[in-house]
Amino acid sequence: MAAKTLDYQKLLAHIAAEVARYQGQGQQASYIPELANRDPDKYGITLDFLDGSRYCFGDSEERFSIQSISKVFATAAAFGLIGDQLWERVGVEPSGNPFNSLVQLEYEAGKPRNPFINAGALVVADILLSHLRDPYAEMLGFMHELTGNSTIAYNKKVAASEFATGFRNASLAFLLKSFDNLHNSPRDVLDLYFHYCSIEMSCTELARAFHLFARRNQLNCQIPDLTSSQLKRLNALMLTCGFYDESGEFAFKVGLPGKSGVGGGIAAVYPGFYSVAVWSPRLNAKGNSILGMHTLELLTSKSKLSIF
Ligand code: GLU
Repeated sequence: MAAKTLDYQKLLAHIAAEVARYQGQGQQASYIPELANRDPDKYGITLDFLDGSRYCFGDSEERFSIQSISKVFATAAAFGLIGDQLWERVGVEPSGNPFNSLVQLEYEAGKPRNPFINAGALVVADILLSHLRDPYAEMLGFMHELTGNSTIAYNKKVAASEFATGFRNASLAFLLKSFDNLHNSPRDVLDLYFHYCSIEMSCTELARAFHLFARRNQLNCQIPDLTSSQLKRLNALMLTCGFYDESGEFAFKVGLPGKSGVGGGIAAVYPGFYSVAVWSPRLNAKGNSILGMHTLELLTSKSKLSIF
């Protein structure tokens, strides 16, 4: 592959210089008050090849709120636990709607389009609440296993901040309950969901955790036990549904399965080759990191390492 002929450290520095012209565009998410307390101009990237080589640039070791990127780990855990039964309660189609939309859920009778929009992630949290003994500790344990780092934790302030202000998510949870697609109390499901969103990781930790999806086979991980076929499906979902109503744009420009979060992070994989995580808190109108999107577009264009 082209990988060996490129100086990736230089490439990352070059990309950072190129995307600097978009610096200052967009806004940091402020609808979760605690998220607005970060420096909006942070920028970090980690490119982590399966062959063991790793390249980092900028604020790649600083932890940030992974927010919706957690939906991939939670979905993986639920898929591992209950298999295809998961798809009886959540769909696998892109939504074409904002991540927190209520309208589609109402007219589709309480079955969320996919697990990466908020309604779908609430159903996934409900499943984990029903099937895990301690869904708080076990999700962190999963992160610790994937990264080899046992200091990854919830940011309780961020979780509490969202619990106090997350009225749209609360509406989604109650609507799901009215359709009988939550088995636990909306309050308990929301608390777990907000905790998952509040997990803090650095680019380097996220890229390492995403090796699970790049390798497509599981190594030394007890929870959950995923088959390579399940990991393939999770990558398909990331490609089609990972970027809210900008998923088509991301596939078109970047060409990798991935997932973004309103904390400004994006993690993506080229199955069989590498995982990558980028962080920059300023978001576009769809909720995706502006510098992050440009960075990954340049990375796959210049390295020619995308799935297409
Ligand atoms: N906790 C956020 C919410 O539910 C996650 C959104 C995101 O990162 O897309 O609004």
